[in-house]
Amino acid sequence: MTKPKIAVVGSINMDLTTSFDRMPHQGETVHGTSFATYPGGKGFNQAVAAARGGAEVSMVGVIGDDAFGKSLKTMLAKEKIATAGIKTMTGIGTGTATILLTEGDNRIVVVPGANGEVTPQHVERQRELLTNSDIVLLQLEIPMESVKKAAEIAFEANVPIILNPAPSQPLSKELLDKITYLTPNESEAADLMTHYESRKALEEKLIITKGKQGVMFYEKGRAVTVPGFPVTPADTTGAGDTFCGLMSTRIAQGYSLEEACQFANAGAALSVTKPGAQGGMPTEREVLRFLR
Ligand code: ADP
Repeated sequence: MTKPKIAVVGSINMDLTTSFDRMPHQGETVHGTSFATYPGGKGFNQAVAAARGGAEVSMVGVIGDDAFGKSLKTMLAKEKIATAGIKTMTGIGTGTATILLTEGDNRIVVVPGANGEVTPQHVERQRELLTNSDIVLLQLEIPMESVKKAAEIAFEANVPIILNPAPSQPLSKELLDKITYLTPNESEAADLMTHYESRKALEEKLIITKGKQGVMFYEKGRAVTVPGFPVTPADTTGAGDTFCGLMSTRIAQGYSLEEACQFANAGAALSVTKPGAQGGMPTEREVLRFLR
């Protein structure tokens, strides 16, 4: 089977994770127990999930001309993700998430940096890449105007659009009308319901992820549940990203929504058994073996 083409327009981050025993007080210094950097950003994460899941993935984004940017670009290439749509900008840092991990208390500071420079103009320059794709996959970690631009280009060309509405924020009817599928988790779904006047039109697009319970969507007004797979979770970071990348790949391959959700549930369940967002993302072969 030829690989489906997926274009991901979104964020690329370096996650900086520091672990320690006790949160320092104001003005205090404490010794930490470990520090590690991990590739991240919802865009990059979903691109990796889709590529390992069997898609030919192109990433559209912006990184800074710094060590993190260089390192992330190498990682993208290692995952065989096409980087022609990635711009390297001088004078701005690559996006980061600083994660402070201590027993029972996680604190995260995200600096969008270069992700904020994914402008509608940059997206416009990738028009051909987007219109030649089987699916355009979007999230909300780049400027809203650029999300809208990508949706506009794909919609005009009849390319299906999957939007993972995270982090949660109000979405215009104009944007929602162009989206084929929305993949919120439960709290993001609740937010969407309050912002969209036509619940029926919204329901038709919704694929709501419900953690270990799996997902639900509406078919002709009736709720359909695709159950999750029982596993012992080690780290659920990026479970939603794994789900979105894998579901998009299966949809682009022509599988039914239910089949795509089952495959993505299996892959996301596998991913939570290992630490790190991208670290646990399985290959297509691993998911198929798990499903056997
Ligand atoms: P998010 O990570 O975006 O908050 P969810 O928590 O709903 O999203 O997880 C996304 C998907 O990952 C779920 O639909 C399910 O397929 C899978 N998943 C998440 N947590 C677990 C778990 N503990 N066990 C099995 N599968 C899980």
